[in-house]
Amino acid sequence: MSSSAATPLHVIDLIRKKRDGGTLNEREIAFLVAGASDASTPVEQLAAWLMATWIRGLNVSESRALTLAMRDSGEKFDPSRLGKMAVDKHSTGGVGDKTSFLIAPLAAACGVAVPMISGRALGHTGGTLDKLESIPGYRTALTLDEFERVLERCGASIVSQTPTLVPADRVLYALRDRTGTVECAGLICASILSKKLAAGLNALVLDVKTGSGSFLRNQKETEYLAALMVATAEAAGTRTVALLTDMDQPLGRTAGNWIEVAECVELLRGERPASSEDLRELSLILAGWMIHLGKKAATPEAGYSLAEAALTDGSALAVWMKMVDAQGGDLRVFEDLTASHKPGATAVLEAWETGYIAAIDTMEIGWAVQRTGAGRDQAGAPVDPHAGIDFHARRGAHLEKGQPLATVYATDQAHLEEPLARLRSAIRFSTEPPPAVPLVSRIFNRENAEEFLADAGKVDETASSS
Ligand code: URA
Repeated sequence: MSSSAATPLHVIDLIRKKRDGGTLNEREIAFLVAGASDASTPVEQLAAWLMATWIRGLNVSESRALTLAMRDSGEKFDPSRLGKMAVDKHSTGGVGDKTSFLIAPLAAACGVAVPMISGRALGHTGGTLDKLESIPGYRTALTLDEFERVLERCGASIVSQTPTLVPADRVLYALRDRTGTVECAGLICASILSKKLAAGLNALVLDVKTGSGSFLRNQKETEYLAALMVATAEAAGTRTVALLTDMDQPLGRTAGNWIEVAECVELLRGERPASSEDLRELSLILAGWMIHLGKKAATPEAGYSLAEAALTDGSALAVWMKMVDAQGGDLRVFEDLTASHKPGATAVLEAWETGYIAAIDTMEIGWAVQRTGAGRDQAGAPVDPHAGIDFHARRGAHLEKGQPLATVYATDQAHLEEPLARLRSAIRFSTEPPPAVPLVSRIFNRENAEEFLADAGKVDETASSS
């Protein structure tokens, strides 16, 4: 089947074309995206197209076309009026992945504007917006004018995509979550970059998760995703780097909603619990890159030092408090972080044998977290702000049988059993310590991303209409 500009398009034809392994061209992809944005395409057809796409994959030119069509599906934000470089970070999604709450204030404290458009829980991973909404009163759905005012006042703002800003991702993101179609490099690339490009960023730092808790569990696929996103964003005019970072265990001590916010506030206050050290380190590395790309530091290392100073001297904490206040959040909740945590039911999981924590199936841990009540079963359902899991030991720790391994906070007693069972199945003990895993294993930039795609044989001619 071919589709020239004059030929009318039909969703059913495009579903069948993808199902049968065909390549969709720009016009066909734009047609599907328009149908998702204005709700003119029935949801079952969008779901069928997503599943066909998940099974068949998207090539580089389809991924780029989808990214741009989604970016253009709604209004755009123009940060040029802020008079600062606009730089953001986005993660491909992980468990306990809460770096945004540190990075946004860190980079803003160092003079970079951070217009951050974030998402909700997706699959086994938590959502920045769900976590932020555990702060009573915090509004994530700002108008673009409000977004700009918060940015002017605070230097950072974290918001949701709105019906007018990237509406295509709002629809497709929620649908992917419900149809088991999240784990697809091209769909992830388009979902993330459409939001970032619509925010008019000057530069972007991507945190691409690797290991058992990432969406793409195979290393080659993860590298492909990183290279694809860097090349796509660069081609659209945004200076971009991607860091491949460890998700073979949850990041930091907590995974849930309020408990993740509280862990970050502790760090912003200058506390340094050993169990949050990986979270602190990764946040400083990512913020260092943002500050460098935002032209406030000559190198990422110099950016790291500036970020660390902003953590130590309290200026990042000041940005955080100002931003939360500006978005309606009740600052009193930070006065006593423990007293503000009100889980419905609590259970402690003890080590069931003596040994080293040798391996963690982090995706399974993510599902355990979601099932405490911290995630949702259906789109639009509320999440429990106080549910989640606190980890008392990290990979490589040596535990005696009976020592506390994790505390599960659930909505009620009925929500305790499944997370406890999933945690037990996700953690393996050994008499030998596991090998160390680097926090950052690889970095892609505009030069090596294109090279990687070419070497991997992924660079294709512009999608044909075949
Ligand atoms: N984050 C997003 O915004 N979209 C995805 O598809 C995955 C992570």
